[in-house]
Amino acid sequence: MSSSSCKVTLLGATGSIGRSTLDVIAQHADRYQLHAVTAQRSREALLEICLRFEPQRAVIGSSQDAEWLRSRLREARLTRIDVSHGESALLEVSRAPEVDVVMAAIMGAAGLMPTLAAVEAGKRVLLANKEALVMSGGLFMDAVSRHDATLLPIDSEHNAIYQCLPMQRAGRHRELTRDGVSRLLLTASGGPFRTWSLNALENVTPDQACAHPNWSMGRKISVDSATMMNKGLELIEACWLFDTSPAQVEVVVHPQSIVHSMVGYADGSVLAQMGNPDMRTPIAYGLAWPSRLDAGVEPLDLFAVSRLDFEAPDEARFPCLRLAREAMEAGGTAPAILNAANEVAVQAFLDGELSFLGIAKLVEATLEATEMRAADSFDVILYEDARARRSAERLLHQRSFQRGRA
Ligand code: NAD
Ligand code: MG
Repeated sequence: MSSSSCKVTLLGATGSIGRSTLDVIAQHADRYQLHAVTAQRSREALLEICLRFEPQRAVIGSSQDAEWLRSRLREARLTRIDVSHGESALLEVSRAPEVDVVMAAIMGAAGLMPTLAAVEAGKRVLLANKEALVMSGGLFMDAVSRHDATLLPIDSEHNAIYQCLPMQRAGRHRELTRDGVSRLLLTASGGPFRTWSLNALENVTPDQACAHPNWSMGRKISVDSATMMNKGLELIEACWLFDTSPAQVEVVVHPQSIVHSMVGYADGSVLAQMGNPDMRTPIAYGLAWPSRLDAGVEPLDLFAVSRLDFEAPDEARFPCLRLAREAMEAGGTAPAILNAANEVAVQAFLDGELSFLGIAKLVEATLEATEMRAADSFDVILYEDARARRSAERLLHQRSFQRGRA
């Protein structure tokens, strides 16, 4: 791939990761060209992106929004931009032959099939959409090696670990211990409620949960950070990406979010990747790999940071971490069920139908109510994802889960 003509499909262009990706691409317009940009509902934002970047294609969720976008682009005399809608269009722009890099930044399970399409077309896939990997783990990683795709983690922790692993291992399936790695240290900010008592957590509002102290992110992942389900999903993500077991991954709460994660080696060395908490760093890393790019991120000022703190996570106040670890240990469809139940629970919390502490309770109840099975095909995963959503919805409408009770 010659870097002068790198063509990018950006799935989830209007989101938080999408906007940071556009910012990096805009700084290096000579090296990266947008083939396609996609969004589910934010048509105004997608229009603005089209006007500014003039990609070849734009994809949106509904036919009405696609029609609206076409007519605005006609008015702007940008009829060259092909506008389409729906999942088949997402699959098309992910596997288009002229595309080199696909940024997978759709939120949640909806990102699975488009991301998989990019993998199956052997693209370089920049994976922000952790839910896709959590749901389909082994199947997804098998597809990566079978189709010779390059999978680069964009989640800041996994990107940090990737950077701290020996170069010869990067991107390959090999036992970590053979490279002298003894453990992965996954850092967590602890979210906005790190120091809150269980009592105080009872009455948390969506806006409080979405006000992350260090990172500015989409609402779903912000709630996940507040419950620490995000760290649970990341634990599962790390197991699949780096072919390791949950026992080899240690979660370390680090409130400053300067150390983005670490790798411990058999000789006692611990390598850390540090930087300001800004997603443009891992995004630029993924775009330019194996070289480096100016991401427009402020240089790290260690004197201003002054200290780095580390503490153990509290699973009594943040049970989602335990639920995720148990789901990974149970294997099969358990992580997909955990993820589906969590998506339903977070949406219910954001809609004011479920309390903050009810999120973990609903996820646990759904896991208990659902039979696990072997995750032997993507069809099984999608079927179990839908089944777990229905089961979580049913439980949600039971009296015990009504707002104020759970
Ligand atoms: P966001 O909510 O800000 O944006 C989500 C994007 O996905 C939007 O463009 C939206 O239009 C699109 N989308 C939503 N539902 C869709 C659907 N059903 N079909 C197609 N497109 C859909 O989310 P975000 O914070 O940018 O996060 C995106 C992904 O990256 C998530 O999986 C998240 O866990 C992961 N991630 C985000 C951050 C961060 O800093 N924001 C960090 C690490 C990982
Ligand atoms: Mg992360």
